[in-house]
Amino acid sequence: MRNIASWGRLGTYPHEVVALDDPRHVASKIASSSSPGLAHGMGRSYGDACLNPNGTLWMMTGLDHLMAFDEASGRLVCEPGVLLRDIQRVFVSRGWMLPVTPGTQLITVGGAIANDVHGKNHHVFGSFGDHVKRIRLLRTDGEIIECGPEMSADWFSATVGGLGLTGVIVEVELQLRRVASPWLQTETLPYADLDAFFRLSEASEADWEHTVAWIDCLSGKQQRGLFMRANPAAAVSGNECPALPKNGKKTMPVVPVSLVNRWSLPPFNKAYYALKSWSAGPSLAHYEPFLYPLDNLLEWNRMYGPKGFYQYQSLVPADVGRDAVQAMLKEIARFGEGSFLAVLKTFGNRSAPGMLSFPQPGVTLALDFPNHGERTHALFARLDAIVREAKGRLYPAKDARMPRDLFESGYPRLAEFMQYRDPGISSALSRRLMGS
Ligand SMILES: Cc1cc2nc3c(=O)[nH]c(=O)nc-3n(C[C@H](O)[C@H](O)[C@H](O)COP(=O)(O)OP(=O)(O)OC[C@H]3O[C@@H](n4cnc5c(N)ncnc54)[C@H](O)[C@@H]3O)c2cc1C
Repeated sequence: MRNIASWGRLGTYPHEVVALDDPRHVASKIASSSSPGLAHGMGRSYGDACLNPNGTLWMMTGLDHLMAFDEASGRLVCEPGVLLRDIQRVFVSRGWMLPVTPGTQLITVGGAIANDVHGKNHHVFGSFGDHVKRIRLLRTDGEIIECGPEMSADWFSATVGGLGLTGVIVEVELQLRRVASPWLQTETLPYADLDAFFRLSEASEADWEHTVAWIDCLSGKQQRGLFMRANPAAAVSGNECPALPKNGKKTMPVVPVSLVNRWSLPPFNKAYYALKSWSAGPSLAHYEPFLYPLDNLLEWNRMYGPKGFYQYQSLVPADVGRDAVQAMLKEIARFGEGSFLAVLKTFGNRSAPGMLSFPQPGVTLALDFPNHGERTHALFARLDAIVREAKGRLYPAKDARMPRDLFESGYPRLAEFMQYRDPGISSALSRRLMGS
């Protein structure tokens, strides 16, 4: 038994931990689990999607082999515990890259599929599942299901974004995309208010692959921020390259209280906005610091202190997006304590590959909040009301507390999904939101 926490560090819970590292023994180890189990990747989900307190966790990171690569087509076959970082590092120098990655590359392929993660380029490349060509799914009764967009497509659609609940993914075939270099042509543009954010988003959709914005959630009525956009750069000659990111990473120490609070945040946000506005404009950036800015500070989740933190990531449809985001930011400003990590992004007009995939056309707002118990939950209840009225949804990968009715209304294909669940698999999230 080991105590395991998720990324939000809201608590640690006892789990029977079983390492799956030899593909020959995976099926027998899963079949011999004494209680319902759950696959666990890097535990980068913020809430309870990757936890199964008092049950079994099958640790997947030992299944980390790259098995085959076709240089002509960019098809990669790999085990599910491979980190996205390792795929990028092996293949970027060969002219290939993952088409979609989230804001951290320290996650597993299995975790990326189970949450059907999205990146800053959703309007161009969709979500991770759009680039998965085949999944080998092991059910806890030993049955193997091979599925993909064109083979057992119903199982594929249940498993992509399926929160690990349809079986254990034991092998994956991915389509990589061509890149000329590891560099991105980027541009940072300060914006004065939400209308300016939406104008910039719309104007950037056709010509920019990556778009994302930081928002100063405490800036009052104006809600200013920084809009960032980027495109892959052509091959860059040596003397044009900025310095490569340093490998020496820093680690956040354990702190006794949250460093993010109502006193530290306003001056921090003000200084960040001023500094970034001053240095705004075009620049050439390596993909790692642009796409994964937080990966350089290991264990940064400790900055919220021993009580941990929540992330609240909502998605509201485009037609009501501006008003709903404005209403949420107003509530957060009134509450007086948001987070430095506040991200705003529009999703493209694409249909998602998974029954429970989070992305859909609209605008998503993600903010971290230090855990202050009841007070924080009271704020979330007000934000929930806005999301509910807007007919929006919350992201399970980030969630530890959404009410069941909001999950049910946000994910209309839930009943269909339930037919594909594996009875030998359960998570804290599935018990909270699906009843088992
Ligand atoms: C700094 C940071 C930034 C982030 N940015 C984004 C972002 O921009 N976009 C986004 O979409 N997400 C983002 N996330 C969330 C993160 O990408 C997801 O939570 C991701 O699923 C974590 O993968 P993991 O390997 O850590 O899996 P875990 O968190 O351990 O597990 C996630 C789910 O995957 C399932 N799972 C894992 N392996 C398997 C397997 N082999 N078979 C079946 N199921 C499996 C688990 O059961 C669980 O349900 C971010 C997280 C962090 C910490």
